Amino acid sequence: MEKFDFLNPVNIGKSYKNFILLKIEDVPDYKCKSVFLRHKRTGLEVFHLIKNDRENLFAFAFRTAAKDSKGTAHIIEHSVLCGSEKFPLKEPFTTLAGQSISTFLNAMTYPDKTVYPGASLVRKDYFNMMDVYADCVFFPKLERDTFIQEGHRLEMDENGNMSIQGVVYNEMKANFTTFYQIGMDELIAQMFPDSYPAFSSGGDPAVIPSLTYEEFTAFHKTFYSPDNCCLLLYGDIPTADQLDFLDEKFMKRLEEKYNCTSDLPYANQELPYVKPQVRELLQLKKQPKSIMLETTAPEQGATGNLVTLSKYTGEPNIEKYFLGEVICGNDSSPLLKAVKESGLGDMPYTGNFGQFKEEFWVLGIGGVKEGKEKKVFDLMHKEIERLYKEGVSQEDIDSAVMGIDFNLREENRWWGPYSIQIMEKALKGWVWGLPCTDQLCPITKFEALKKELYADKDYVKKLIKKYFIDPEVECRLVVRPSKTYLADRAAAEAKLVEELGKNVDKEQLKNDLDRLHANQARIETPEELACIPHTKVSELEKNTDEPKVELKTVKGADGSDVPLLISHEDTNGLFYVDVLFPFDRLSPEHFKYIPFLSNVITNIGWEGKNWDDCISESACIMGDVWGRILTGSVYDVPQCNEIAQKYADYNFMGRKWLGVSCKALTSKAEESFDLLARIITKMDFKDAKRLKVLIQEQRAGRKANLVEAGRDLAFKRCTASWSEGYALAEILWGVTQLYAISEYKEKNAKKILKEFEFIYRECLKAGGVIHITADDDSLAKIMPLLEKFASAAGITKLLPSNNYKLEDYLPYVINAQNSMGEETKESLTTESQTGYATAVTPCSPYLTKESASEIVYSTWLNNHTFWDKFRTTGGCYGAGIYPDSGECCLKMSTYRDPDPQKHAELLTETIKNNTDVNFTHDDVEKSIVTCYGAIIEPQTPQDRGKQAFETFLYANNGFRLLKMDNLLAVNDQDVKNAALRLAQMAQKDVHKVVFCDKSKESYGKNLDLPL
Ligand SMILES: [Zn+2]
Repeated sequence: MEKFDFLNPVNIGKSYKNFILLKIEDVPDYKCKSVFLRHKRTGLEVFHLIKNDRENLFAFAFRTAAKDSKGTAHIIEHSVLCGSEKFPLKEPFTTLAGQSISTFLNAMTYPDKTVYPGASLVRKDYFNMMDVYADCVFFPKLERDTFIQEGHRLEMDENGNMSIQGVVYNEMKANFTTFYQIGMDELIAQMFPDSYPAFSSGGDPAVIPSLTYEEFTAFHKTFYSPDNCCLLLYGDIPTADQLDFLDEKFMKRLEEKYNCTSDLPYANQELPYVKPQVRELLQLKKQPKSIMLETTAPEQGATGNLVTLSKYTGEPNIEKYFLGEVICGNDSSPLLKAVKESGLGDMPYTGNFGQFKEEFWVLGIGGVKEGKEKKVFDLMHKEIERLYKEGVSQEDIDSAVMGIDFNLREENRWWGPYSIQIMEKALKGWVWGLPCTDQLCPITKFEALKKELYADKDYVKKLIKKYFIDPEVECRLVVRPSKTYLADRAAAEAKLVEELGKNVDKEQLKNDLDRLHANQARIETPEELACIPHTKVSELEKNTDEPKVELKTVKGADGSDVPLLISHEDTNGLFYVDVLFPFDRLSPEHFKYIPFLSNVITNIGWEGKNWDDCISESACIMGDVWGRILTGSVYDVPQCNEIAQKYADYNFMGRKWLGVSCKALTSKAEESFDLLARIITKMDFKDAKRLKVLIQEQRAGRKANLVEAGRDLAFKRCTASWSEGYALAEILWGVTQLYAISEYKEKNAKKILKEFEFIYRECLKAGGVIHITADDDSLAKIMPLLEKFASAAGITKLLPSNNYKLEDYLPYVINAQNSMGEETKESLTTESQTGYATAVTPCSPYLTKESASEIVYSTWLNNHTFWDKFRTTGGCYGAGIYPDSGECCLKMSTYRDPDPQKHAELLTETIKNNTDVNFTHDDVEKSIVTCYGAIIEPQTPQDRGKQAFETFLYANNGFRLLKMDNLLAVNDQDVKNAALRLAQMAQKDVHKVVFCDKSKESYGKNLDLPL
């Protein structure tokens, strides 16, 4: 049979397996084509973004909205994942997550929709996930026990004391505790009164208990029908294959369940169909005239009142994004600067709020003193007037255009694949009944905006008039922190519990709870779990796509050949540059200054200009520019040594680097290289006033995240005398560095600048290396510029390293003796509500078969023994084990640990004693599949370039296939041997460090943290 061509317009209006092809569109901004289809019996709509990307994504989305805060959509989101017709398990989702090679697997409730996305690079895995997800959303069990577990229930302890419990109930209780969270909710409720945004889609714990089981199941029936489902597909799996899968597995069952006996009357409608009752729910109501509202929120996180002034701005468009960047894009933008300089508060709260079909501008400040509210409103009016009258500067416009151009082109993986962000854009229009492509052309729209902008010198003024002066309705809001907010809520909750308790049949309640708890405690058998499909090792592809660099040279300032490394990646008209100079020719006594120096070099100005002017100049030319450190070692194994030998004459292997990186649009390549050369050669070390501010910021920043960094600090101490590479890491990033930071004094600013200038100049003298990541078109433009750049930036031939050894670093490590010897213990103490335990023991070397089986064994430990011992039993938030085979170092740790002293011992005991575990063959397979997923995890183009460059400089590029071969060859016996081997190695060399509160009893040698 001839295949159906979904991209041929003659097929529009024709059906493939009852899916009518309604629309074919180009989506040039994301370099793909799209098709829109509807199943003519059930109404299920499918939008496929057809793109040459192996990382396929699907997302089942349902329009869900409510005019109450019972949290039904959120509770349903949790509950559908608790067992379905084909997968009658307790948690098919968790089981699936533990054995698939997904790059994304999640569920999210938004105010107007609930979305279930999954992504994978492996076709079989992708369909496994789709199979489970589709069954869960359309055919969930939704038993009463699930409802009371995930939603809400009265819980009774052995003394008969009652409380309200429930996963969503507790989750949302934690959400209703901070000032700005509640403040934001109040603001939205004020802007769209009595419509769905005014209510909590996640659920308000004060209201959740009023939800009944009957309402819960009815909600699913109404909103999870196929005619309210938007199925988004993205990637290179053919549309036909996806529809075949749906047709075979689900469409008949859905037709039966929803009694679909004939074609729908709107089956051929080109626009998405929104059911009348849903359309009604999605209507937004607005304030008809100006109002002022005063309210309260919990005081946690507040430093004063939140005062805002808001205006409606209509449907989403690019104009508002642009205007926002012009007036508050960075600290020197006019509105943000005025707000900050007003001294009226400490938290600017301005921007266009764009979550719904109608948007609004917020102009506000948090941390405002009582009585100053009117001053805030006056300031906002005055500034808007001023901006309208005087206009904005060309620099403000140029840097906004630059910033948006850059952001619209740069791919990122903020949370999962980039396609998740495309999905969110497509669903916005789709859910509201607009074309799916409605929000998918930001670049095209911005190009059109730029034409208007350049043709009309009053363009920005007109936008200010349109969005700030013309709209008459103005909503003012004052939110005051309240000391009693949480206590009032707690009292209301207690009263509710009392009332519910009065009317309940205690006998019945006890039976219900006993049944629930018994079911929760029951462990499912392997036979039961087997219904969830999993990918087998034999099905994994061995091909790996390892990023590479190409080595070239360019004539330097001294006429020598300077190494030039090129990463060809699909950067979409952008390029990334690293220019690095080695610092390892200096004496190690200077090394502790390198981290702060790297922060200072792009932050203190150049060519004798003001710091502000410098930032403004670079914002108009580049996406960003920053100081950079790169260190590492060539691992001592034959494969790496051989590569290092091959390139020995270049002097770039295994070096310790300091330098400058930037990213920019290829269209700005010439200016960017010119500016970068000036920054590198004409950097000023004169502005002592600026340095003082940077010292304060640095100290405050490190202090603020000291506890968060606790585990990392503890690891650095564990390994401080393990190897040359680890010792340097302790100096640059560990406790030794905290001491260095505490020694920077504002009064010494001039002296510090002298030291910094000396170090920086010495590095420049040692020669340099250049790295570029760009697409081929960009490279064609960039390559001819590089000789001029290398010369202007003063880059010369690399001089050889001093090749420091471990003993050269140890004198500069704080209390290095604490980690020297066969078995050491140390505690890092400060004020901390939480703790961490870390321990290290030896493991097998890099790239060996032994190392591969130790990685598999560690993965199994992470999912079993470590989870049980430290999380379930020990009360830690997390625990993990990972072999760093390059340094032959097995690293173990706990996270947010209530008893780190005890657990530091337990970590090493676990490794020493875990010698006769019965791994099933299935366990080993699942662990290998998980490790495989980590190796093939996709990266953004800039991350690929970065990784290729860094691995190349440490003779560690090109081993991915070998690692994969070793991994896929691991068998059951290898894993057993790995357990024995690691236990043996741990008998001798053990280092343990805990991070904990000062008040805890002492553990080993104590080191009190500075700052
Ligand atoms: Zn949740």
